[in-house]
Amino acid sequence: MPVPTAETSRIGTVGNMSEQTAALPDSGTPDPAPELVAALRATLDGRWATSRDVVRERIQAHGITPQVGLSLADYRARVLGEMREMVAAGFPAAGFRTDHGGTGDTGGAVTAIETLGYGDLSLMVKAGVQWGLFGGAIENLGTARHHEKYIRGIIDLEVLGCFAMTETGHGSNVQELETTAVYVPETGEFEIHTPTGSARKDYIGGAGQHARYASVFAQLVTAGPGEEPVSRGVHCFVVPIRDESGADLPGVSTSDCGYKGGLPGVDNGRIVFDRVRVPRENLLNRYGDVAPDGTYSSPIESDNRRFFTMLGTLIRGRVTVGAAAGATGRLGLALAVKYALVRRQFDGPDDAGELLLLDYRTHQRRLLIPVARAYAFALAQNELVAELHAIQESEDADPAAVRELEGKAAAIKAGHTRLASDAISAAREACGGAGYLAENRLPLLRGDIDVFTTFEGDNLVLTQLVAKELLTAYADDVRGLSAIGWVRFVAGAARDVALEKTAARQVVQTLRDDSDADPEESELTSRGTQLRLLRNREAHLLRTAAARMRRAGDDDADPLEVFTSAQDHLIKVGEAHIERIVLEAFLDAIDKVGDPAAKELLFAVCDLFVYSAIENDMGWFLMHRQLSVERAKAVRRGVNELCADLRPYAETLVDAFGVPPVALDVPMLDPSNSVAAPPDRG
Ligand SMILES: Cc1cc2nc3c(=O)[nH]c(=O)nc-3n(C[C@H](O)[C@H](O)[C@H](O)COP(=O)(O)OP(=O)(O)OC[C@H]3O[C@@H](n4cnc5c(N)ncnc54)[C@H](O)[C@@H]3O)c2cc1C
Repeated sequence: MPVPTAETSRIGTVGNMSEQTAALPDSGTPDPAPELVAALRATLDGRWATSRDVVRERIQAHGITPQVGLSLADYRARVLGEMREMVAAGFPAAGFRTDHGGTGDTGGAVTAIETLGYGDLSLMVKAGVQWGLFGGAIENLGTARHHEKYIRGIIDLEVLGCFAMTETGHGSNVQELETTAVYVPETGEFEIHTPTGSARKDYIGGAGQHARYASVFAQLVTAGPGEEPVSRGVHCFVVPIRDESGADLPGVSTSDCGYKGGLPGVDNGRIVFDRVRVPRENLLNRYGDVAPDGTYSSPIESDNRRFFTMLGTLIRGRVTVGAAAGATGRLGLALAVKYALVRRQFDGPDDAGELLLLDYRTHQRRLLIPVARAYAFALAQNELVAELHAIQESEDADPAAVRELEGKAAAIKAGHTRLASDAISAAREACGGAGYLAENRLPLLRGDIDVFTTFEGDNLVLTQLVAKELLTAYADDVRGLSAIGWVRFVAGAARDVALEKTAARQVVQTLRDDSDADPEESELTSRGTQLRLLRNREAHLLRTAAARMRRAGDDDADPLEVFTSAQDHLIKVGEAHIERIVLEAFLDAIDKVGDPAAKELLFAVCDLFVYSAIENDMGWFLMHRQLSVERAKAVRRGVNELCADLRPYAETLVDAFGVPPVALDVPMLDPSNSVAAPPDRG
């Protein structure tokens, strides 16, 4: 078979869009070819394959899997113990710069925490809070005095911390946090205070039990000599919250969130401050400082821009959460695909016995479409991690590039966590009753993954942010505007809103240049056509959203009404953008694959990603005449044919995820278990 090029699909039947349905294999699957699995895995593992392998080995050697039947106290102790062993293995240091006592490998650190998604998400989240969020706040918002005092202890777990941003009253809108940090010049201290019930810090990982310190986000209030005290916006402070014995320090009241929908090994809690004093030096002062006399200074004049610059330095957490969710989604799919290759129900047409679940078209659709999406998002995620690594390594990163990275991190986090949550639900149901038993782990994964769509940025809020950024072309000082202010800005902007004309990647540019034809006229299997369909959808949605926003400029228009009535449109802009950038990253990654067989298979997976994405949004494509009814039918047939074509490779595709065997060691997949045993044909 000729090696496919980027331009065309390998799959002849889909290319012809024949009515023919694929023949179901009449017996089990061929064994996955080890070379093909290895080539695919190398592509998925990418640049930080070594970090992945180190964590895989730990998961395997230490049996790091979601646990059932432990008390909260025992589970938390177990997770903290696992973290201590990770310190001994040395990789938490990777997340910190060398001059702060780390080893300076952001990509390696993010990838290592991602890989914990194959083990236990409780450990992933607790590790992410300690080293990524708490440690990240001190490293990125603090200065030398904080780095010297805390970083080594954070790496070694001598300084156990939490990241106290969210309050009961404000989660998504953190600019409106109510906790105050009032500077007292007489003593050179800040007074950290919870002025209202809704200002209580809530859901904070580590605050329930283990954390001794908190990085507390609060409104800084100060006055220089002769000035009236004024709020300078949200800043971050290091606040000790417990003593060595674990008792609350004076003025601090912590409480435990108790049982949650999942993540039982994470001690989420609440914190209330009653005029707690901390020294002036505890302000993390990289972006804003207070002199002993109370005078405020900052390298960034605008409160708004400073706030978003500070938040921007913390995107590593968002990137990591998307990555780890992706890993757990792949684990769930691997469990369900493997079960579908041993589990039989209902007789087939001949005497061969009952059919394997994966021989049913519906089962192929339920599992292989998310597998295709998992490949697409995993490769887009790898690219994002590499970009984050490059920016964090550079001394003078271009602010525009940083801003774009933030937008991309929001997009990929929202898309990847959505996929993981949906994939695990599909996997759970695809395993029937067995999928509901805790011993087979899917219900545990489902409980754990659920909140990933909410924390580190609620997915809807992030998707809306993505759309807003596209509509304002990343204009300065637009972030932080209220809905009304933002609509007024868009309405007043004279320029046209359009997708960037030139794609940054060569492979995408070449495909676009080669495919200026009307998508309706050209082959759906052409990569350029596929790209155009997704780009045209996004461009159309963006243009029409901008036109709706401009109506807010009319004399009789109510900007809030304009915004609210177009909000679903904005979300659709964001979603279309996410799928388009993921496709481009996928094509770019495939272009770099050297192994011909792996490349061929990846192109088929990419086809399924695109066809199923178009099918999923068929209503839009038909309503906006981007596809004819005939083409739409061909897309649906194409999804079916691709599922059939990929069916014999299902095990190869999930084996390439490189899930450690211990994570797949569940009763429903145990061949000695009668449920999983092949039927006796004797
Ligand atoms: C298990 C867990 C662990 C956590 N760990 C931490 C931690 O360690 N540190 C920390 O600081 N925080 C933590 N959080 C908090 C988390 O980040 C917030 O819950 C999250 O940001 C969402 O905020 P919220 O709960 O206030 O929801 P809200 O912002 O109130 O959102 C509620 C709903 O309203 C919708 N919504 C909100 N705004 C809009 C809008 N403009 N338009 C349309 N719909 C909207 C959202 O989509 C959502 O469905 C954790 C939460 C959980 C559950």
